[in-house]
Amino acid sequence: MTEVIGINLDSLVKKFGNVIAVNNINFNIKPGEFFALLGPSGCGKTTTLRLVAGLEEATEGRIMFDDEDVTYKEPKERDVAMVFQDYALYPHMTVAENIGYPLKVRKINKNEIRKKVKETSKQFKISNLLERKPNQLSGGQQQRVALARALVHQPKVFLFDEPLSNLDARLRLESRTFLKHFQSELGITTIYVTHDQSEALALADRIAVLKDGQIRQIGTPREVYENPSDSFVADFIGDPPMNLIDCKLEDNKDNIEIHFPETSVSIPKNKIKLNKPIDLMKDYIFGIRPENVFISENESDIKSEIYAIETLGATTLVTLQVGNSRVRLTLERNIDLEIEQLVQIKFDYNMVRIYEKESGSLIN
Ligand code: ADP
Ligand code: MG
Repeated sequence: MTEVIGINLDSLVKKFGNVIAVNNINFNIKPGEFFALLGPSGCGKTTTLRLVAGLEEATEGRIMFDDEDVTYKEPKERDVAMVFQDYALYPHMTVAENIGYPLKVRKINKNEIRKKVKETSKQFKISNLLERKPNQLSGGQQQRVALARALVHQPKVFLFDEPLSNLDARLRLESRTFLKHFQSELGITTIYVTHDQSEALALADRIAVLKDGQIRQIGTPREVYENPSDSFVADFIGDPPMNLIDCKLEDNKDNIEIHFPETSVSIPKNKIKLNKPIDLMKDYIFGIRPENVFISENESDIKSEIYAIETLGATTLVTLQVGNSRVRLTLERNIDLEIEQLVQIKFDYNMVRIYEKESGSLIN
């Protein structure tokens, strides 16, 4: 049995010339945790992963595996296994040779290798493919071979760099479920890089959301979804996305008035607690998820006109015109609505999030 380790990144910086790819990153991954690095293209995910693997050398900072400082250790001293987007299988080797390769370079004897390859390929349901070459495999099969090869010697750490992005939608979902099951079963500490928020939410125990080489938020999928700590995270996570509408705020006795460009909403102060005094001159962003907006029968609620109705399957996405803003809401069922119909809407005030426009920070 492999030991399960924790990973600590301490003030990690990586520069390529003038480009700061990783700009002072700190996090602590617990032993056995499935940790996702999520962010748009170019935000430094791959570089961070390569630093952990030892494929890049840190400009500043420290990487610890438990109590061991691995910052300047060679990749092979770190005992990590990495799976890339393109799987990087050896084209001239059979599936069996590919899977057995990490053992061969570790000078394990042939019988032992054969036994391990057999066991691992059974786990990944690819026992029938062992004699094939990679070009005789489907994308999903190649991906399983890459996973089997990464896992055959039970590494201390598992590193994934967008391993599902080359698969079609159905296969991506199946592989995702498989990975989730597999990682929980083995309990190997895992870092998973993706630009796909739904993948991070589905797989990870915790997610670090990155932008421009810096961490914007670290939290469980539920925390980053329900309580995005800044407007970038709010916008990046969720599908359909969160409604984020520019507004001004005004303190009015027992209420907070939210002034949108052509309409206003009054929210009782006991429903929305701001941690900063309101600045009348400042621009704010009003955030609410589509599932927290409702059609209302009450004439005094916010007036809107239905702009579009899209059937998503289990839910329906309704886009409304409110003044000159658009608001999305999701409905569990396809109720009787028509385009251009006039309806009232209301918000679940507990789920309203207010951000400062300039800094992007959450103030409630
Ligand atoms: P991500 O994986 O999130 O898309 P990367 O870690 O690949 O982002 O890249 C982060 C930044 O570092 C980008 O601006 C990228 O162009 C730059 N970068 C990455 N690798 C190199 C390199 N070897 N040389 C120069 N710049 C690099
Ligand atoms: Mg990348």
